[in-house]
Amino acid sequence: MTANLLDYDLEGLAAFCERLGEKRFRATQLFRWIHQKGASGFDQMSDLAKSLRDKLRDSAVIQPLPVLSQHESADGTIKWLFDVGDGNAVESVFIPETDRGTLCVSSQAGCAVGCRFCSTGHQGFSRNLTTGEIVAQLWFTEHFLRKHLGREDRVISNVVMMGMGEPLQNYSALVPALRVMLDDHGYGLSRRRVTVSTSGVVPMIDRLAQDCPVALAVSLHAPTDELRNQLVPLNQKYPLSELLAACQRYLQHAPRDFITFEYCMLDGVNDTPEHARQLVQLVREHRVPCKFNLIPFNPFPASGLTRSCNDIVEAFAAVLTAAGFVTTVRRTRGDDIDAACGQLAGDVRDRTRAGERMSLRRIMLKPASDTIPQET
Ligand code: SAH
Ligand code: SF4
Repeated sequence: MTANLLDYDLEGLAAFCERLGEKRFRATQLFRWIHQKGASGFDQMSDLAKSLRDKLRDSAVIQPLPVLSQHESADGTIKWLFDVGDGNAVESVFIPETDRGTLCVSSQAGCAVGCRFCSTGHQGFSRNLTTGEIVAQLWFTEHFLRKHLGREDRVISNVVMMGMGEPLQNYSALVPALRVMLDDHGYGLSRRRVTVSTSGVVPMIDRLAQDCPVALAVSLHAPTDELRNQLVPLNQKYPLSELLAACQRYLQHAPRDFITFEYCMLDGVNDTPEHARQLVQLVREHRVPCKFNLIPFNPFPASGLTRSCNDIVEAFAAVLTAAGFVTTVRRTRGDDIDAACGQLAGDVRDRTRAGERMSLRRIMLKPASDTIPQET
């Protein structure tokens, strides 16, 4: 069977090399060719013996994801839509800023959590991405961007698992992908600059703390179980008290001394000063050092929800700030290309399912607004 080398972290690649009868250290060379130099074939790997290259050609591939579309916003945000087969597509978004370049990466085609305000959630779950499919998003975009921007050094300095899907419901594929991102022979990203965002899969938060403690963002969206049960159905399984206890435990292993709580501002639903006060009480009660990231809601018709207006967001933020919590309001970026996580891919999948592939281009060009992650 042909192996996709993007499926392996360095340890996995070493085991693969051993199976080929090669020394484990060959894996390091191979890994660097793939991830640091962006090699897509074996012939260019000039310092590997020809016999090894021949073996690799017979038994392995470096499998990219086909690009369905790429759109660049006036502000430099670039969004790619990748084909993952069977009419499913996932997206990655690159957000350049003066001091960093962030890639927003998808972990699943669709999502089973079904949050009310999320178009990926409305779309339902198709399947987990493989490690190779998660890594391929970074592999392709990093090396594309180096060429595109004429740079030889690293372009992507931060990765946020905030694209489509719930990363902690695809744990076994996620962890090796994170290791590739962190590995000095891979992308060499620091643990502080790789963020897993979760809707609150409590047992997997504990496992991540042991296996690969990167920065953690938790999508809270409500200060009470009553409200959160409605917005994030997973809350019925893992209520707030358990979730916040898991956050507290995670901090003993985390690369940062705070958890980022994401909070999507929904008009008239979760956005009053009273909600903000309850939120303060909640995190104080559970003694979780944290920052808040308020996300303006990206509306889509099926949600029946609308975005809180700026004054309301400001008033909400003011309560949190006054209580001593660092609070950011996510900036709007990529307005002209609809770079909202999950949104566009949902459209495409619905249409490709209906066999209307031809309409794809038109959908891509539709203007819309959006927001970006603000992890440092
Ligand atoms: N499943 C993970 C990560 C992907 S979603 C999670 O839920 O955390 C990334 C972030 O985008 C989450 O905070 C999510 O709540 C938010 N989000 C989803 N749909 C949104 C929308 N329509 N408008 C604004 N933010 C949204
Ligand atoms: Fe899934 Fe996250 Fe969307 Fe909820 S917000 S449905 S967990 S992708």
